[in-house]
Amino acid sequence: MAKTPRLMPKHPVLFRGEVLRSERFSPSMQRVTITGANLDDFPWLGYDHWFRLFLRQPHQTEFVLPELAGAKRWWDPYYALPEDVRPHCANYTVAGFRREASEMDIDFVVHCGPQGEPEGAAAIWACTTRPGDPLALLDQGLIFDRPDDATEVLVVADESGLPSTAGILRSLPRDTVGRVVQEIPAAGDRRPLDAPEGVSVTWVVRDDPAAVPGAAALEELRRHDTVDPAGYAFVVGESTLATEGRRHLVRAGLPKDRITFSGFWKSEKTEKLVRV
Ligand SMILES: Cc1cc2nc3c(=O)[nH]c(=O)nc-3n(C[C@H](O)[C@H](O)[C@H](O)COP(=O)(O)OP(=O)(O)OC[C@H]3O[C@@H](n4cnc5c(N)ncnc54)[C@H](O)[C@@H]3O)c2cc1C
Repeated sequence: MAKTPRLMPKHPVLFRGEVLRSERFSPSMQRVTITGANLDDFPWLGYDHWFRLFLRQPHQTEFVLPELAGAKRWWDPYYALPEDVRPHCANYTVAGFRREASEMDIDFVVHCGPQGEPEGAAAIWACTTRPGDPLALLDQGLIFDRPDDATEVLVVADESGLPSTAGILRSLPRDTVGRVVQEIPAAGDRRPLDAPEGVSVTWVVRDDPAAVPGAAALEELRRHDTVDPAGYAFVVGESTLATEGRRHLVRAGLPKDRITFSGFWKSEKTEKLVRV
């Protein structure tokens, strides 16, 4: 079965960069634009191209990076660094790439803890970073893996997958048909999407700060109990959305090898539910 071309770099290459600007893109999304001397070499493939992002932590004065040359697995040299100098590492998607200008946009979901306090080292970094702050990226390629014979494409995501959704829609052949279920925390997080004409987009606005992200998208997905078994689905976001979304699609008749699902993060609320 032919697949969407994907490139997983054979040898880990770190792209060093620095912050150009950071601004609130929408109520729940902070956009950080970065640049870097070798960023124009980043082999951007469109779609949901993602990377590991290394950031200096607030208590660190130096930005120390793992030495990846010759390493088979990036995490060996990363975890070999002493904890006090080890940078924070989190996964993000290319939200925009302008090779001529050596610029990349990264969209960070701004999330809060139970008392409304900002949480997440990467999200807090995004909201407080200043021009010139250092960072590094480790290219990870694509997860989206549509077979070329797929009759339709279904994309389901919470807000952590919105940059993937936007990139996939922008990259899909213009004659693609399908649908998107995209959950967002607030109506103001809706954004124009460059979707093929045959792909419909359903925005699901959560609006309840206490609700677990992804649950509303899952509910919307479950409203549809028929799928074309020759289609393809991509389901990402909070881990319950990813696993339960896949389960629903398999029950509805979509073969497992035509579903890509990925838990982008795990909510402590669902972890507690699982433990009870
Ligand atoms: C392939 C891939 C691509 C991704 N692309 C993006 C992207 O482009 N933009 C993006 O924002 N995220 C993206 N994510 C998700 C992101 O990596 C996680 O949300 C990550 O946990 C954020 O790191 P952090 O340091 O802010 O929070 P962490 O330190 O990892 O977590 C701190 C706390 O925040 C909670 N938390 C983490 N993420 C969220 C969230 N989104 N909403 C609510 N609570 C949360 C955790 O449950 C935990 O309690 C992607 C993940 C993957 C695997």
